[in-house]
Amino acid sequence: MKINIEGIKSFIPDATIEALLIQEANAPASRIRDIIQKSLDKNRLDPAETAALISVKDPELRQMIMEGARELKERIYGNRIVLFAPLYVGNECINDCVYCGFRISNEECQRSTLDHRQLVEETKALVETGHKRLIMVYGEHPKYDARYIADTVQTVYDTKYKKGEIRRVNINAAPMDIEGYRIVKSVGIGTYQIFQETYHQKTYEKLHPRGPKSSFLWRLDGLDRAMKAGIDDLGIGALMGLYDWRFEVMALLYHTIHLEDTFGVGPHTISFPRIEPAIGTDFTQHPPFRVSDEDFKLLVAIIRLSVPYTGMILTAREPIEIRNEVLRFGVSQIDAGSSIGVGDYSHKDDESRKKAQFVLGDTRSLDDVIYELANGGYIPSFCTSCYRAGRTGEHFMEFAIPGFVKKFCTPNALLTFAEYLYDFSSQRTLQAGLELIDHEVDKIEDESMKKSVIDKLAEMKAGTRDLYY
Ligand code: SAM
Ligand code: SF4
Repeated sequence: MKINIEGIKSFIPDATIEALLIQEANAPASRIRDIIQKSLDKNRLDPAETAALISVKDPELRQMIMEGARELKERIYGNRIVLFAPLYVGNECINDCVYCGFRISNEECQRSTLDHRQLVEETKALVETGHKRLIMVYGEHPKYDARYIADTVQTVYDTKYKKGEIRRVNINAAPMDIEGYRIVKSVGIGTYQIFQETYHQKTYEKLHPRGPKSSFLWRLDGLDRAMKAGIDDLGIGALMGLYDWRFEVMALLYHTIHLEDTFGVGPHTISFPRIEPAIGTDFTQHPPFRVSDEDFKLLVAIIRLSVPYTGMILTAREPIEIRNEVLRFGVSQIDAGSSIGVGDYSHKDDESRKKAQFVLGDTRSLDDVIYELANGGYIPSFCTSCYRAGRTGEHFMEFAIPGFVKKFCTPNALLTFAEYLYDFSSQRTLQAGLELIDHEVDKIEDESMKKSVIDKLAEMKAGTRDLYY
């Protein structure tokens, strides 16, 4: 792959962002209330409006923003949380991102790439815990070209084991050229995710000193090329802690607007990971713009309100307490039972941490997370129905199509949750889960839908699998 940045221009207006953040500081309560209402009325916010939310200092107004995000999540998306796991395929990397345990100059990182047999073993280990959705993660290395990524995805899809299989694979890998994306698309991927890390070009260039990733513009254009190759299910993100989070949230909004204006489709998901400690990586001990827990909660709420129709992903980088709290402000997907060392799911040992990209904050098992979600009134969902039925952009449809959540999302969440409970759960989770399902079925207003769900749940109990609307 040859990097060519001819003709690529940045769509991040640094000066405008800085100006808006100053101009919109100290907006009165009435303006903040109107902005929240605009979002509750199902509109994306304009940059000036997001800047006004970002600049709020008054604790009461901050609270109002978080309440607004909570209301939006409850009203539009309901109480489902989609679950997935990351699968690290290889940690070799030719870049030198200063914050990453996999960077080329990190001598403490033990390099490793799964071979075919190991990849099958890892997949089986994940299937055996009940997972149905993965994100496959790769360092950037000539070994991990588009063909290799496509082949490894295919291997995962082909691995059927005991009662399960992986039904949706998303990707987090380096940006490709258009031809590369076409190859990866051909094996049926879900979302292609690329984080810009920081949208502040000068900072980006300092923190990515070598390798292909040192080109800010090549990366920024990465999702445009994916669109041109026909992949319209895309994930954007910024790694929080590299530069001021206020700037990054504004830039995520500008990236969304750019994709919408250029291709008519915005990003499917937004991620906002915070930097975690990584072995051999001093930088991670003192990120220059560390985001406090309070600011983190606010930034999640602001992203929810700014782009009300995207999925939001919260990873196990965050500790349990933060995960539980932030779930309420609009998160739609979380990973659970995650391991991020190459080969960890099937063979965890003392050396594992040397093969991991960073240290996780939430190391609970999938079953424990599900138990707690069910007790908290959330429906854990393994739904892959839109993707498999060819309905792309499900978060947008949930948002935009009246009745979509009631017709598809909630019933499918209940069916996939029941499937998990019968095949994989512990006794206590089974009990808590079945109670939750009964309660949720009672809430279905449409009588024919209710009957259909009850029938399908009975089929599921009798042994039929993979039922969905
Ligand atoms: N190598 C590819 C790339 O850089 O785009 C894809 C995978 S990389 C392993 C996945 C993401 O992990 C990066 O985009 C970055 O945002 C995040 N990451 C790297 N180091 C991290 C750290 N110390 N803590 C939290 N997230 C980190
Ligand atoms: Fe390599 Fe990605 Fe880590 Fe950068 S973030 S060092 S490209 S694995």
